[in-house]
Amino acid sequence: MANNKRFCKECGDEIYGRRDKQFCSDHCRATHNNKINSDLTGYIRRVNYTIRKNRNILCALNPAGKARVHKMKLVDSGLNFDYYTNVYKTRSGKTYYFCYDQGYLELEDEYFALVVKGNYVG
Ligand SMILES: [Zn+2]
Repeated sequence: MANNKRFCKECGDEIYGRRDKQFCSDHCRATHNNKINSDLTGYIRRVNYTIRKNRNILCALNPAGKARVHKMKLVDSGLNFDYYTNVYKTRSGKTYYFCYDQGYLELEDEYFALVVKGNYVG
C-alpha cells in the first residue's frame, strides 16, 4: 500500500505508527522545530538590526533635530525604506515614517524632512 506511506518531515524516513505522526522520532521533531525557531529568531534579529541602523543613520543626518536632505543622501547612507517602527499620518495627509524617535517625511523633488519625535509630532 504505497499510498499510505508517510515520511518524516525532517529526515525523510518512513514513519510507522499513528496516522497523524509527522516525524519518525522525537529527535526529528525537535530538530525540525529548532530550525523553524532559529529561522524566526534570525529574521527578527535582522529586522531589529535594520531598524536600529535606520535610526542611527537618521540620527547622524539630523543632529539639530530638524533637517532637509535629498533622497540620494539617505540611500547612500544605507537607509532601508522598508523597515520602520511606526507611521504617523497627519490630518493634512502627510505621512511620517519613524524608526523609534527618528522620523522622515517625503517632500517634493526627492527631498525628505527629518524630524525627531516629540519635537514636531505627537
Ligand atoms: Zn526523521
